[in-house]
Amino acid sequence: MRRVFLIAVLMVGIAAGLWMARDPLGEFVYGRAVKAGYGTDVTAGLDDGLHVILCGTGSPLPDPDRSGPCALVIAGKQVLLVDAGSGAGRRIGQIGVPLGKIDATLLTHFHSDHIDGLGEVLMLRWAASRRTIPMPVYGPEGVDKVVSGFDTAYTADYGYRIAHHGADIMPRSGAGARAFTISRSAEAQTIFAKDGLKVQAFAVKHDPVEPALGYRFDYKRRSVVISGDTAPTATVARMCKGCDVLVHEVLNPQMVGKIAATAKERGDRRIAKIMSDIPGYHSSPVAVAGIARQGNAKMLVFTHVVPRMPTRLLHPYFLRGVADAYSGDVVMGEDGMLISLPARSDRIKRAELL
Ligand SMILES: [Zn+2]
Ligand SMILES: [Zn+2]
Repeated sequence: MRRVFLIAVLMVGIAAGLWMARDPLGEFVYGRAVKAGYGTDVTAGLDDGLHVILCGTGSPLPDPDRSGPCALVIAGKQVLLVDAGSGAGRRIGQIGVPLGKIDATLLTHFHSDHIDGLGEVLMLRWAASRRTIPMPVYGPEGVDKVVSGFDTAYTADYGYRIAHHGADIMPRSGAGARAFTISRSAEAQTIFAKDGLKVQAFAVKHDPVEPALGYRFDYKRRSVVISGDTAPTATVARMCKGCDVLVHEVLNPQMVGKIAATAKERGDRRIAKIMSDIPGYHSSPVAVAGIARQGNAKMLVFTHVVPRMPTRLLHPYFLRGVADAYSGDVVMGEDGMLISLPARSDRIKRAELL
């Protein structure tokens, strides 16, 4: 009994000591954490191959677990960003990819959820790199207006940063972006090919958003197709044609229908109308599964997941019918997911970076 009492007193004493020392302990722990985290670059440890890092798997609907649409495609040493939704820059940093590494951005279309993180990506990239030319931003017709709009909005801040840190640290020539327009075409077109990487753009079906694009990436016999926002279209299946990974947007119409019905019951006609409009230009899980089967994709990864689900326990309901329509691997994309396709192999590896 006496022994138990002594142990209890000792434990209380240790706890009190730790509590009293929380300030210097905090300093110690923080210093270690800074050293451990400083200069993290997850791309440095990647094998030669084609990799996709999902840096945003959400939509315009607020979701604390999913940033706005954002995917990094890494091919050898080249790093491309596809769309820059809300929170993209912060998520990329949190995942451990230095923003200065991004060589170019590809926009699928100009819905706000796909571009509203572009300003922060451009600013963080400029601060994090010694680049002296702006970020190339590719996109459909109108990309020049988007880029010049961000440039106008950030012009004052360019000046503040240069005044504060000096032009040798933040050269004006490296700020912002330069637009490259992908002209309208019924056929897929190669927008660039460099060091073994070929990137093709193709038109998808997202009316009234016109044009809206998807992208295909090929590198050392590995391939990834990113659908962008689209209603189900055979073009995506055709572009995949045996691709290793199809990253496709998805919206569950039954679930969104329940939101619309509730809005209607509550007399909220605006939300009821919006919720009943959106399924028309997105793709249901079963329709995407059909596209993946038709395109013979080896793996299907869902992104741009609508609606928000507060728990993964709802995924089986969300994915109802998918397994009957497609027999390959189906992955519910999440922020921080890395999918790796080592060069000249048929392996597909997956890891979580968050
Ligand atoms: Zn979208
Ligand atoms: Zn859209």
